[in-house]
Amino acid sequence: MRFHEYKHVDRVSVEAVTWSRESYGLFDYESQHVSRRNLKASSSAKIIRIKNDIRLVTDMYNERNVCENSKTLALLKHQDGVFSVTKHEKKSDRTRSNASENFWLVVKNIKKDNVNQEYQLRENDVIKLGRVKFRVRELHVGEEMDGYQNDTNNDEMSELGSEDTGSIEDDMPKQHLIKQLPENQEITCRVCLNSENTEANPLISPCGCSGSVKHIHLDCLKHWIKSKSHIKSFGLCISYTWKNLECELCHRRLPEIFIHKDERIDLIDLPKPQSSYVILETLAKEQQVSKTFYVVMATENDLIRLGRGHDCDVKINDISASRFHAFIKLSYGRFFLGDNGSKFGTLALIKNDFVIRPYSNISIQIGRTVITFTLINKSPQLLHNNEYVWIVRIEFNLTLGVLVSHVLMEVM
Ligand SMILES: [Zn+2]
Ligand SMILES: [Zn+2]
Repeated sequence: MRFHEYKHVDRVSVEAVTWSRESYGLFDYESQHVSRRNLKASSSAKIIRIKNDIRLVTDMYNERNVCENSKTLALLKHQDGVFSVTKHEKKSDRTRSNASENFWLVVKNIKKDNVNQEYQLRENDVIKLGRVKFRVRELHVGEEMDGYQNDTNNDEMSELGSEDTGSIEDDMPKQHLIKQLPENQEITCRVCLNSENTEANPLISPCGCSGSVKHIHLDCLKHWIKSKSHIKSFGLCISYTWKNLECELCHRRLPEIFIHKDERIDLIDLPKPQSSYVILETLAKEQQVSKTFYVVMATENDLIRLGRGHDCDVKINDISASRFHAFIKLSYGRFFLGDNGSKFGTLALIKNDFVIRPYSNISIQIGRTVITFTLINKSPQLLHNNEYVWIVRIEFNLTLGVLVSHVLMEVM
């Protein structure tokens, strides 16, 4: 069989559903009060929202096309036959029309070849259940799962969150670089009053305090933090909550990560189970908000339940969370996140621009709008720059039958 490169006249279907209410950037997946708009794009376009309506603006540089109260949701790019979705235009562009809201992958809409899929979790993923955000702090596959751990991962959905391009900097924990203190300086730890300063346990100044209370041993700080946690144990989960992570004297928020001689040291050491486990941490933008870590034991194919209900392993005390909102499961050494028909959805933060691929539609939530992108292939194509070749699928569809047979004859 010989492949021709076809002059493809592909388009993208852009199906947008907008919830009429503006509420904490939520989208109600059960609401009937939604506006639907099905659009098709054959070139680059800006996707904008005007009240409850979604439009494509193809003349991206003509600002007259965009009225004042419109909001840019995303930019659809068409380049070398590939459609991709991005938040930002190139820096060199004169127009400034970057999308301001995060892209969230709608977990329940992930489909591949029309089969529903769960989202494969990775460390540092940010997930959102209703309006509650978590960071996946650690995913650990225990020895009982040996043999699976090094399983290669080629889930194309996972790569959406893999490279952090800095869209959620606000949510990142503060880092603190430990500097070498000048010698001959008479300094003491404010906790133990000792002036010993070793590489393993350096004296640091992690907050805004000055004078005799400026310095503290890293170990003394960690010990003090540990004593401030509220521990709860329920089912598969042990949670550790801090009312705040700030200095008691100057009330400055403490860094959660220390960098010491190129090594990362976490302020918070959590006891970890011997078996497989997941550690989630709550994320909040406001500094004063409490912080909780959930250390949850995982066993193959047992669901870890997340939600507002009392029987959930990870309990979410927020009205925007459904009683049994979502689940995490361990399967063949990988962790997956699935939605359980929640009202406000289970979402995973998309940190990168992403390509719209054939046979897997992608659905993203941007504030109160959910957009599903699907490629409309009119012809098979061979993309030289890509590692994959798309092969015609014979659809059992009478209207396509003629087209498909025509195409196949040409391909033979
Ligand atoms: Zn000390
Ligand atoms: Zn302080």
